[in-house]
Amino acid sequence: MSLPIYLDYAATTPVDPTVAEAMTGCLTMAGNFANPASRSHRYGWLAEEAVETARRQVADLLHADPRAIVWTSGATEANNLAIKGVAEALAAPGSHFVTSAIEHKAVLDCYQYLEGKGFQVTYLPPNNLGEISLEQVEAALRPETVMVSLMHVNNEIGVINDIAALGQLCRERGVLLHVDAAQSAGKLAIDVNAMQVDLMSVCGHKIYGPKGVGALYVRRTPPLTIAAQIHGGGHERGMRSGTLPTHQCVGMGAAFALAATQLEADGDHYQQLLARFLAGIQAIGGITVNGDSDRRVANIINLAFADVDGEKLMLVLRELAISSGSACTSASIEPSYVLRALGLPHELALSSLRFSFGRYTQLDDIDRAVAVVREGVGKLRGLSARTGG
Ligand SMILES: *Cc1c(COP(=O)(O)O)cnc(C)c1O
Repeated sequence: MSLPIYLDYAATTPVDPTVAEAMTGCLTMAGNFANPASRSHRYGWLAEEAVETARRQVADLLHADPRAIVWTSGATEANNLAIKGVAEALAAPGSHFVTSAIEHKAVLDCYQYLEGKGFQVTYLPPNNLGEISLEQVEAALRPETVMVSLMHVNNEIGVINDIAALGQLCRERGVLLHVDAAQSAGKLAIDVNAMQVDLMSVCGHKIYGPKGVGALYVRRTPPLTIAAQIHGGGHERGMRSGTLPTHQCVGMGAAFALAATQLEADGDHYQQLLARFLAGIQAIGGITVNGDSDRRVANIINLAFADVDGEKLMLVLRELAISSGSACTSASIEPSYVLRALGLPHELALSSLRFSFGRYTQLDDIDRAVAVVREGVGKLRGLSARTGG
């Protein structure tokens, strides 16, 4: 049996072949394998040089100072470091933080943890299009607010937050802004200075780099001191200890450099795929887009299928590798908390699916996906019409 068509790029992307090649050059005796922290020999210097080149490549995509980049194991760790690191260094129990109800779990779970330690957290609800307004954020700010954490692009619905406007508001009010940009790096232009962002989380594996590596941008002017969450050895200017994985850093750097040169071409490609997909889907009928249709990235589209059972839907679409967003608990299937926060009814949230496209998705894949959806949905609706429900 052939593999399903991969339309789950928002979960992870394959590594670009040129990126894989760069990584392969950092593993064996013949390659650049050494510990970048080894100061006493040339092997170490070469590894350090490679890691610092990669750091510059990551920084360049964010228009950041390379010295402001802290390597982590991914965006999850970057979010942990940003949130707990700020809470520990710059706040105290009773201090207040603002985030949204539709952040990634790597942000929400950190804030839940902080609540357990006595910090106060406001979880802003989005409107039914998945937007968090500037007015909402402004109204939530208190004298004791330390930081706002909001994502740039939502991983389930693709809706974009206006980070530049939020940055201006936060700067004016003397509040830090932390942005989870795991889904926007390589998709949207980012400039941490122009956007007035203080902390930004990114990772390699959402933009054709490897899994298991990420970075946190930590503002340098004026300097921002956050508390390390991993201790031992004082790497990364004391913010994140541990031997740097040369091949992982080099892979992420190469992927970010490639993303910078491909930003426009990738964007055009995603637009083309989305237009074709939506035209095909709309012709089927009874399918609506979850989240704002205007303020979104083109590579993620979340669809609600009326009058079909969510579980059966996944089954008839098994020729497509897509994501349901729902989570299995011990007793039942729970719909996506993001879609529920948008106000989608339980059933419709359960029969919603995320399709996400990438650099290697072809128009043929889109046509095939539309055909599979048409056939599958038609079958389910025909059945339910005949059985009267
Ligand atoms: C994937 C993702 C993360 C987690 O990143 P990892 O590198 O897998 O830890 C965090 N936030 C968002 C928005 C994501 O899409």
